[in-house]
Amino acid sequence: MSQPLVITPTLLRYLTTCERRVWLDAYGEASQQAEMTPIGALYGIAHERQLQKVASPQAESMPVQSWDEGVTLTRELMAAGTSVIIGAYVEARYRVESGVEVSLRGRVDRLTLNPETGCYEPVEIKQYINIGKGDELQLDFYVSILEQMQETKLRGFFWLGDDAQGRPRYVLQHDLNLTRLQLALRKAYTVLTQREAPAVNLVTHCKECPWHSECTTVARSNFDLSLLPRLNSQTRKTLQRGGINTLQDLAALSIEELQRFKGIKKTAASHLANARAYVEDRPVWVSRMPDLLHGGGWMFDLETAALPGGDGMPWSLGWSDEEGKSQIAIVAPEQPHQRVTLAPIGELITVKDKDEAWEAFYDSVGVNDKPIYHWSGFDAGVMKATAPEFVKRALLGRMHDLHHTFVNTVRLPLRSYSIKKVAAYFGFHYSGYEEWWAAETDYRRWLVTGEVEHITRACGYQRDDVLALAIIWKWLIENHHLQTDERI
Ligand code: SF4
Repeated sequence: MSQPLVITPTLLRYLTTCERRVWLDAYGEASQQAEMTPIGALYGIAHERQLQKVASPQAESMPVQSWDEGVTLTRELMAAGTSVIIGAYVEARYRVESGVEVSLRGRVDRLTLNPETGCYEPVEIKQYINIGKGDELQLDFYVSILEQMQETKLRGFFWLGDDAQGRPRYVLQHDLNLTRLQLALRKAYTVLTQREAPAVNLVTHCKECPWHSECTTVARSNFDLSLLPRLNSQTRKTLQRGGINTLQDLAALSIEELQRFKGIKKTAASHLANARAYVEDRPVWVSRMPDLLHGGGWMFDLETAALPGGDGMPWSLGWSDEEGKSQIAIVAPEQPHQRVTLAPIGELITVKDKDEAWEAFYDSVGVNDKPIYHWSGFDAGVMKATAPEFVKRALLGRMHDLHHTFVNTVRLPLRSYSIKKVAAYFGFHYSGYEEWWAAETDYRRWLVTGEVEHITRACGYQRDDVLALAIIWKWLIENHHLQTDERI
């Protein structure tokens, strides 16, 4: 007998933002799926662990080998009257309108025994305090399964945020909305029984989706309007209603024609340049490159402690000259202040805290008054918030946001203008990983173990961010002459 379709709370959560994601997760080509580390989820997991530890310090761990074993164990613990079951396995069958049976299954953060009713109630733990539609569906899902299992009416609870003692900041009662859940289950079943994947619709959260690369490829081959950066879905629908369905349609318009569409006025030239960049598969210049860039300068990037447990302060500052000769100041409170050559990366300066890191940076770039290029407002913002006063006075006025200059000067056939994407367009490849969290993880391991391969990888990432800036600056300098006859 064929196995029933499995519907999980995660699936319902994805369904609230993208039907295509749900379909691809079930039937997509696994090799097209990128490996992702959901940083937001890591914070959520750390938060949940902390709250569980405070609420149930004596909890006993019981390993299970399979889903079925987990369900059996959960039922046994419930039958035995265990007061709290953490990570409970729950499952029930559900009949959709057509009469077909599907399997609903998921793992509840906590099942707590209500001493007054003798029934188990589900608790979901969230780091944030404002719940969304996906969260409500998740508890609807668990309450519904547990009502079926215990043959009684139930309520669920959210534990939201935390207080100074590591307890939930708010406990919010949740009542099952059966209509909402049934609608979501029906929609899930419809999507899962479709022969074709739902259409691509690239939006901001797509960059956190493992199918992003696959969907971008499909969108490129269709000249999909959702490839345009900063074109919101409302304006896209307005364009489609006016017969502009592809980037080719849009690229054929004049600025004046494009401005007739509601929601497009000042952005018309920018959308047009982006559309032409895709259609003609080349950079399209939108305005003059600032002369300041001809004077050369320093390339600068920094990393802050942003993983769970981090204090948000810089742990690494990296910079280089125009030729890519790089230096990196790393915060290592337990290590002596020293300068060493870290092959093949460049000079590594170990400093005791972020102030010493800023001082090392100041000593190096203070030898002249050239611009200090960085990508986006982040680095200057962190300098403003964390550098000693004399460093800010001397250097803040020299900070130049190359990202701002770049997007105001030229457009590429890209949806994202992150430094990684832009540098990759010019053929630059990172020597190792491209994820900030991987570098911070290596840095933390190095602090604990002292193993040089960890700091080499972390510094390789920092150095590559700096080199990527140098590549982009150089490309602007070498190609800006094209702008005169191509400007929109
Ligand atoms: S990349 Fe975007 S459109 Fe594609 S599946 Fe993921 S969320 Fe959906």
